[in-house]
Amino acid sequence: MRNGSTNQSGKILATSDEFVPTAFHQPGELPALPLTESEPVHWQEAMKRAIRSSQQLRKAVGLPPDSSKGVGPDGKLAGEQNFPTFAPLEFVARIEPRNADDPLLKQVLPVTAEEVEHVGFASDPVGDLNALASPGVLHKYEGRALILTTSACGIHCRYCFRREFPYQQTGSRKDDWLPSIKYLQQRTDIEEVILSGGDPLTTTDEKLDQLITALEGIPHLKRLRLHSRMPIVIPQRITGELVKRLSSSRLSAWMVIHANHPQELSESVLSGTAQLIDAGVPVLNQAVLLRGVNDQTEILTELCRRLVNHRIQPYYLHQLDRVRGAAHFEVPVETGLKMIENLRAVLPGYAIPQYVHEEAGEKSKTPILDTNREINS
Ligand code: SF4
Repeated sequence: MRNGSTNQSGKILATSDEFVPTAFHQPGELPALPLTESEPVHWQEAMKRAIRSSQQLRKAVGLPPDSSKGVGPDGKLAGEQNFPTFAPLEFVARIEPRNADDPLLKQVLPVTAEEVEHVGFASDPVGDLNALASPGVLHKYEGRALILTTSACGIHCRYCFRREFPYQQTGSRKDDWLPSIKYLQQRTDIEEVILSGGDPLTTTDEKLDQLITALEGIPHLKRLRLHSRMPIVIPQRITGELVKRLSSSRLSAWMVIHANHPQELSESVLSGTAQLIDAGVPVLNQAVLLRGVNDQTEILTELCRRLVNHRIQPYYLHQLDRVRGAAHFEVPVETGLKMIENLRAVLPGYAIPQYVHEEAGEKSKTPILDTNREINS
C-alpha cells in the first residue's frame, strides 16, 4: 500500500508523510547529538529524527561539506531530488566518524556517481511492474505473493532496486489493503504471503495487527514472511507487541532482515532479533554484494559468522539488481563466486548464503553457480 509521498514524476520518496520532521528539527538544522543507541526513543520518533540531507549527514559524521560540481544551491545532489537522503541516527551512530570510506556511510550517502547513466541499468530492473497481479500485490513465484505494504522505509539505501519504484502506479492506497486481501482470497494456490514495501515495519503495530488478522482469515494461507530492514536500522522497532503478535499468529511467521556488513549488527540489533527467535520466529538475513561495502571475503565471513553466532541464518547474497543510479556498487560475478568459495573453506554449510540474482520473468531467484567447480568436482 502506498503510504509515502512522491515527487513530481510520481517516483518513490520512500519516507512516509507520517514521518515528516515536525518539532524535532528543521531543514538544515542538525538533530540532537551525540549519536547513540543507548537511550532509544520510540521508533516513530526515531523516524522523525532521521537525517534528511547529504550535507547534514556529512556534518553528523564529521566530514566537510561536499564541494563537488553536482551540488545544487539547496546543498543537495541531483540524485537526492528523486531519492532523498534518509538515515536514522541509530544507524548513523555505527558509522566511524571522519571516515569517508565507512561501509555504512557508503550505503546512505548520495554521490555524484549516481547521476552517471550506464547501459543496462534501468528504473525497474527486476520487472516488478509486470508482476503486478492486483493493486498492491506482486505475484511472481508459485505459491507465494508479495504485498506492497507501504512505500515508506526506515532508511534509504542508495543501491535499492525500488529506488524509483512508482508506488502510485501500483494502484495501492494508504492503509487500504482490501484489494490485496481480495486477491489472496481468490488465489487458493497461494500459501505464503510476504509483507514487503517499502518496509512493512514502518507500519504501526496496530495497523499490522489488522492486516495480519485479515490474512489469518484466509484459510489456504499457511505462512507469513516479513522483509524488513527496520530491525537493523531502528532496532527498537522490535516491540514486545510485535513479537507477541507474530509468535501467536495462526500463520507460521518468518522474519527476513537485511544487513550487509558486520558493523550493522550492534548489540541493540542482536537483542531485538533474539527476542523474535526466542519467541519462535525464525530470522534470516539477506545481503546485497556491494563494491566498497562487503566485497572482501573477510568482511563477508565476519558478517555470516556473527549472524549464525546469534542464531540468524544467512539466507541470500544478492548480486546487485541493475537499477539506475547504482552502477558504482556493482561487483563482478567472478568476485562474488570467489568469495563464496572462500567462505566455504572457513564456515559450516549452514552459514553460507545462497548467491543469487533476480531475473525478470524467471520462476524463482537464479542461483549463481561456479560452473567450472561443478565440472571439476
Ligand atoms: S533496500 Fe529495503 S530498506 Fe533500503 S530503501 Fe530499498 S526497500 Fe527500503
